[in-house]
Amino acid sequence: MINFTVGPVQSGPEVLAIGGEHVPYFRTPEFSKIMLENEERMCRFAKAPEGARAIFLTGSGTASMEAAVMNVFGPADKVLLVNGGSFGQRFHELCQIHQVPFEEIRLETGKALTAEHLAPFEDRGFTGFLVNIHETSTGVRYDPELIASFCRRNGLFLVVDAISSFLADEFRMADWGVDVMITGSQKALACPPGISVMVLSPRAVERIQGNQVRSLYFDLKSALKNGERGQTPFTPAVGTLLQIHARLETIDRMGGVEKETEKIAALADYFRSQISDLPLDICSESMSNAVTPLMTRNCSAHEIFTILKDEYGIWVCPNGGEYKDKIFRVGHIGALTAEDYRVLVDALRDLVRRGILK
Ligand SMILES: *Cc1c(COP(=O)(O)O)cnc(C)c1O
Repeated sequence: MINFTVGPVQSGPEVLAIGGEHVPYFRTPEFSKIMLENEERMCRFAKAPEGARAIFLTGSGTASMEAAVMNVFGPADKVLLVNGGSFGQRFHELCQIHQVPFEEIRLETGKALTAEHLAPFEDRGFTGFLVNIHETSTGVRYDPELIASFCRRNGLFLVVDAISSFLADEFRMADWGVDVMITGSQKALACPPGISVMVLSPRAVERIQGNQVRSLYFDLKSALKNGERGQTPFTPAVGTLLQIHARLETIDRMGGVEKETEKIAALADYFRSQISDLPLDICSESMSNAVTPLMTRNCSAHEIFTILKDEYGIWVCPNGGEYKDKIFRVGHIGALTAEDYRVLVDALRDLVRRGILK
């Protein structure tokens, strides 16, 4: 099996080895040290500002999306959110559930965010901005500089879901004035699912400290307090945190976050260069290095996904809802090589020969 989905993805040997070991007890100085190193590396890799903190929440990416909305916004806020697909819609629902006033910019599938979309919202009393910098469902990456300058001009508190973008695309938290950056263990971190990470600017830490949250598990004040000594308030996904530690250490040793991003970008470029003569159309105006969204012409995208899985041992990422039969996605995150893409492209060519991909 070769896995080209966007998560869970394939893990490297250092991560796989830990999966075969017993999970240790964690209220120890040894585990605290590992967590403090995890925090330091996450802040450094996100290019976070001086005094930033990182929280490791046990739960999938959505847990941190929800925790962020609950802990940094409230009924006195007015949030602008970008809704370009199913992950943007998730922020919409979270704001509704937690009674955070909001307006949204709805984008058509595949369309980039532009200055024209933002212009009507200048000087309108907004206090926050919520965005999935890479809307993984459609494969559109929004321009971080455009968002950063809008937020700076309007004094907005900026929360960025970079769950599928972190490590795959450049991320400059301090330069862009991002207050909360969210990612998850099963995307480019290439670990099993179960942990989501929030990197917090000093301004975000201050907001969390001053906010009353009606939740025990998602009240981040206790996570911040415990994190000072490398601990968590409740039993975390200890094994996954050890795997994250091994993965971050490997990235550091191999040349750092830039090298990792370059590697993912090179795989994405290579795959994209190999498919120009296939009956598939790239259907995003602005892509992340993490994934290539492809639209089929005269066949069902879901059928291509199923045949690749059942007959070739290859997993691409299907789409749901209205795009089930139109779009499938090919991921570039996880432990993948150029050779893996040659196998995929050969399989796609074989489907053309068989008259299935047309
Ligand atoms: C994967 C992903 C999430 C989180 O999904 P979970 O299933 O909760 O891990 C959120 N936002 C984006 C943009 C994602 O790609």
